[in-house]
Amino acid sequence: MSDLPECPQCGLSNVYDDRDQRVCPDCGHEWPAGAASEDAGGAVVRDSNGNPLAAGDTVVVVKDLKVKGSSIPLKQGTVIRNIRLVEDDPEHIEGHSDKIKGLVLKTQFLRKA
Ligand SMILES: [Zn+2]
Repeated sequence: MSDLPECPQCGLSNVYDDRDQRVCPDCGHEWPAGAASEDAGGAVVRDSNGNPLAAGDTVVVVKDLKVKGSSIPLKQGTVIRNIRLVEDDPEHIEGHSDKIKGLVLKTQFLRKA
């Protein structure tokens, strides 16, 4: 159980956990545990290749998809511009194609453009 990071302030590795704090005994620096390894916003949204997606990104649909409430399928290769992330749901994004507005898409069927 010694996967603790080095102290970001002095670089020494005598760091220990004190409840949810990391403490460096050498320089006295304290910081919240996990801050370096996880984004504060929770889970990272990733495309089918594992690349992180952010709001405003452009993505491409990697396979033909049925769209709920629409008779028009979403074709492979469709470009979705200016995506929005879904809060607390890293498996979906929202966006518009040229033909269909208000899409909610599974990130596993998308690839960052
Ligand atoms: Zn230190």
